[in-house]
Amino acid sequence: MTGPNRLREGVRTSRPIVLTSHPAAGGAAPPVRWGAADPVARGPIVATLTDPAARNAIGTHSGAYSLYRALAVAAGQLRADHRPDLSDTRPAVPIGPFPQWADPRRIVSLDPWGHVTSEAFAARIAAGCDIRPTIAVTRARLNMPEIDLAMRAGRLEPDGEVLTAAGDVRVTKIAIEPVWWLPGVAERFGIAEGALRRALFEQTGGMFPELVTRPDLRVFLPPIGGASVYLFGDPALLGRPDTRVACRVHDECNGSDVFGSDICTCRPYLAHGVEVCIAMAQRGGVGVMVYNRKEGRALGEVTKFLVYNARKRQEGGDRADAYFLRTECVAGVSDMRFQELMPDVLHWLGVTRIDELVSMSNMKFGPIVDSGIEVVRRVPIPDGLIPADAQVEMDAKKAAGYFAETMPDAAELKLAKGRGLLG
Ligand SMILES: [Zn+2]
Repeated sequence: MTGPNRLREGVRTSRPIVLTSHPAAGGAAPPVRWGAADPVARGPIVATLTDPAARNAIGTHSGAYSLYRALAVAAGQLRADHRPDLSDTRPAVPIGPFPQWADPRRIVSLDPWGHVTSEAFAARIAAGCDIRPTIAVTRARLNMPEIDLAMRAGRLEPDGEVLTAAGDVRVTKIAIEPVWWLPGVAERFGIAEGALRRALFEQTGGMFPELVTRPDLRVFLPPIGGASVYLFGDPALLGRPDTRVACRVHDECNGSDVFGSDICTCRPYLAHGVEVCIAMAQRGGVGVMVYNRKEGRALGEVTKFLVYNARKRQEGGDRADAYFLRTECVAGVSDMRFQELMPDVLHWLGVTRIDELVSMSNMKFGPIVDSGIEVVRRVPIPDGLIPADAQVEMDAKKAAGYFAETMPDAAELKLAKGRGLLG
């Protein structure tokens, strides 16, 4: 038997099912000392499935995409015991280490050593342990029509380094998978670790039994989206107290970010953030754009579109004073992004001060400042960049306490400013 059929046969018959709910026989999983200053002392995060006895984490790599890997194995297109060849995959530029990496409370939702696993744990990997990166660092060029417009309007000038005459922007881009230190995540929310574990277990339909049966496993790789970081300017300047930093933390909005849907301000704000980051890099600082996979305030796109319909069909039309209420009716809450974990990535990048924070959101500003990062100035979106159907969102957010120079009054919030459902 050859090809996929042979692989499929292998999945069906040759391997016993290994339950993860109890320690594997002959277990020699390396201990995790979260927050240790040295990666070897901290220990690797082993979340691979090829050697069950070595696992010291719950869940597995690739977040939600681990389910596609399962499909590939089930369909006979991928060997279950495949190990990646990681030759030449090391970071394109170095990031860190920074003192924040050695603080077990400062970073709890990503592995600060996740991009240097091949080097930091080389001896263990050579001895046969399957240790994989959870962070990848590469270089790229961006080209966005909004940046071209900013150049035509004279707001940006090409410098040949950060921004070329053709409108290309040189960036370092970083992909990060979530790695949760469960005691630290629980502490961040002020709850018991047991309560967190139980809710994670029950709300995923019992997907990860170790959450309740293996208190010895304290690291969890959740099946959710991670974050991308785009750095503008020289990454070697990160972590220096005199480096000026511009930053936007952007939460995913596929409809606006990719397709230009005009019901919200997401893409204009993203592009404005890129513009501010470019300008900062051109002045010798660093621009940091964090893009979190938290679609529709982490409620998901189906919920988001249901809310759009409810907003536009409600009596009195789509208006700011009912903006958050319509979301609560459908989702039970108006937001599930939990910005408490968001500053971790900034600490991972060695950021201690943000000179220009491109955001109006107090939900972002508060956790950043509370986590010990100074914010010098907040940059609101210029009014001219707000799309036609997005004024409802903008007014509602201002009324809810978003940072703004002018506030809409109660009468204005009652006005239907959004387009009708079929408009
Ligand atoms: Zn949006």
